[in-house]
Amino acid sequence: MKHAKSGIGRPVAAHGKKTFFSVHPSRADSFTESVIREMTRLSIKHKAINLAQGFPDFPCPPELKEAACASVTCDHNQYAITWGAKELRDALAARIKTFNRMDLNPETDITVTCGSTEAMMASMLALIQPGDEVIVPEPFYENYGPDTQISGAVPRYVPLAADFSIDEEKMKRAFTKKTRAVILNTPNNPTGKVFTKKELAFIADLCIDHNVVAITDEIYEHIVYDGHKHVSIGSLDGMHDRTITIGSFSKTYSVTGWRVGYALADEAISSRIRKIHDFLTVGAPAPLQQACVAALNLPESYYRNLAAEYDRKRKILFAGLKKSGFACELPEGAYYIFTDISGFGMNDMDFAKTLIEQAGVAAVPGSSFYSHGGEDRLRFTFSKKDETLDEACRRLEGLEISGKR
Ligand code: PLP
Repeated sequence: MKHAKSGIGRPVAAHGKKTFFSVHPSRADSFTESVIREMTRLSIKHKAINLAQGFPDFPCPPELKEAACASVTCDHNQYAITWGAKELRDALAARIKTFNRMDLNPETDITVTCGSTEAMMASMLALIQPGDEVIVPEPFYENYGPDTQISGAVPRYVPLAADFSIDEEKMKRAFTKKTRAVILNTPNNPTGKVFTKKELAFIADLCIDHNVVAITDEIYEHIVYDGHKHVSIGSLDGMHDRTITIGSFSKTYSVTGWRVGYALADEAISSRIRKIHDFLTVGAPAPLQQACVAALNLPESYYRNLAAEYDRKRKILFAGLKKSGFACELPEGAYYIFTDISGFGMNDMDFAKTLIEQAGVAAVPGSSFYSHGGEDRLRFTFSKKDETLDEACRRLEGLEISGKR
């Protein structure tokens, strides 16, 4: 992993004496700030189009806005129940039963969190003792690296195959006596891979044989294309009591700033997650939890339209990137295109900076999705209005880069 600088000292006046305060080393020194979020800051500075961070630049459904306003008007302003408003847990249990095919008791098995980001961190802190090994298929969503460091886990990064499917031999070898958890993310960020039932069943068997918990981040579960099917590993035989399924309202309902997500697990695991969650955040925003019930009441057509809209956006960006010389494939799910930039003769960091400064388009350097490597990749999101994508493509086409194909 990347290492941060540590121990910056500064003089401090105490009781009239000048002392020297020096920051002791801490676990925060073992990772850097998020490169994705840094790219957003750079993008704002250079007034670039932000195709780096995965958030929509279009509004959320009107039903959610109305419900959020009504919730504040009705004075839902105080702490919700720590593990989530009852109405929301009940609505989640019903939705998860039909969509994810998992039976959960809303009283014991659901914890509403501040986004899936908190759900993942609370899950790791609830499961991991320092020194436990956690398997992370690579490339991976940036947060999982620091999540392992913060929880004291030893990450075992397992490269995916060239087509981003599970490499069975490598995966099998990674499971040891010390393995406590495997982190899955399907549909996957950054690769767009949607893991098949067969791939998930292979991992499920390994989890059962080695008494390992699967922590599965499924926040793009409704964004899949070309007939690919989202499967929750927690619905497979033998996985009910050894899976933590993580979800979020952020991406499905275009409300990344609301910070409402959830962790689903059998009572034995959930009771631990709930304790960690309680002392980390107490709870997710109460008025927005009420509004999320309205999200879960949207008709099935909402989900079909969401996937169809993103399918169109995916094709706009894909065509634009191809035209500008980027090597890439159409993703199977989620809303990113993970490009190969090796033909441009520039590393990912330099290329990302050049793109922001000279073309006015921000992307994420590939190395932020790897423990080592990834300098030959850039990730672009298409979670934007069509006109934003059209303008970004126009700018990319106009970019003069030595080595441009
Ligand atoms: N997990 C994955 C795979 C993501 O891509 C993201 C955001 O981009 C998150 C989690 C963060 O989600 P949330 O807003 O629910 O914290």
